Amino acid sequence: MTDWLADDVAVVTGGASGNGRAISTTLAEHGADVVVADIQKEPREGGDPTHELVESEYGQRGEFVECDVTNMDQLENVFDAAEALGGVSILVNNAGITEDTQFLDETEDDFDRIMDINVKGPFFAAQFAAERMVDADREGSIVNIASISGIVGRGNGVVYSASKGALRLMTYALAASLGPYGIRVNDVSPGVVETSMTHDDLGMFETDAAEQYAGRTPLGRVGRPKDIGNAVLYLASPLADFVNGESLVVDGGATNSHGIES
Ligand code: NAD
Repeated sequence: MTDWLADDVAVVTGGASGNGRAISTTLAEHGADVVVADIQKEPREGGDPTHELVESEYGQRGEFVECDVTNMDQLENVFDAAEALGGVSILVNNAGITEDTQFLDETEDDFDRIMDINVKGPFFAAQFAAERMVDADREGSIVNIASISGIVGRGNGVVYSASKGALRLMTYALAASLGPYGIRVNDVSPGVVETSMTHDDLGMFETDAAEQYAGRTPLGRVGRPKDIGNAVLYLASPLADFVNGESLVVDGGATNSHGIES
């Protein structure tokens, strides 16, 4: 526990569950007040709502705002709620959905839904956040949660891969655009992390897919949400003051290696 983020108000989209929940509590552990923006208050994996943990476990102010990141009015409400706490200085664009669909079966609806949540939502959340930071002359940090699927393609997730690739490049373009205002923009690209997404949506733990992935990972396991929370903490904190337009892959070495055998 540090006071690195003692002056910060963080907005975490998709903060109710999984990675977003660990990101929210990790930022609170290091002094940030947190606005959790999600379509649902209850964590998908069960337990107390994240914003309540922010208060009860970490003694920070925690707020929940019901928000679908594709709805501009709801998104704006989130940043208004952050203003009431002192104004957003950290935005984590974490809300995202995946798919497990063969390319030949993909529909226009699949394409639009995934792109809207994974790309359009982060774009306008970044715009709402940056407007407020610039108006208040407040420096800040935006962290986008992309994926290794935005670096290497996933055959049964073509739209997902395209959306995360777009989010990575959006990160670099935003870093160029917002750097002059003292707003840093980076991404964290996780490998497989054990959350409801990989359990319930992709069924990776019901088959041996997660185990196989862990076996191909030099560190021998899949990721934990806290691994992602810690990476976001670094990028949002003063330790990363000169880090801008960077992509931090958090996958135990899986993407950049051929596995444990040479
Ligand atoms: P999750 O499904 O456990 O949690 C996602 C949260 O986002 C949920 O609380 C959900 O209600 C919320 N959400 C979904 N659609 C939303 C919307 N339209 N507006 C607001 N909130 C919405 O998933 P997770 O695994 O924690 O994934 C979080 C992020 O991490 C996603 O962007 C995902 O693509 C990324 N990621 C996950 C993995 C993994 O292996 N779990 C790997 C790489 C990247």
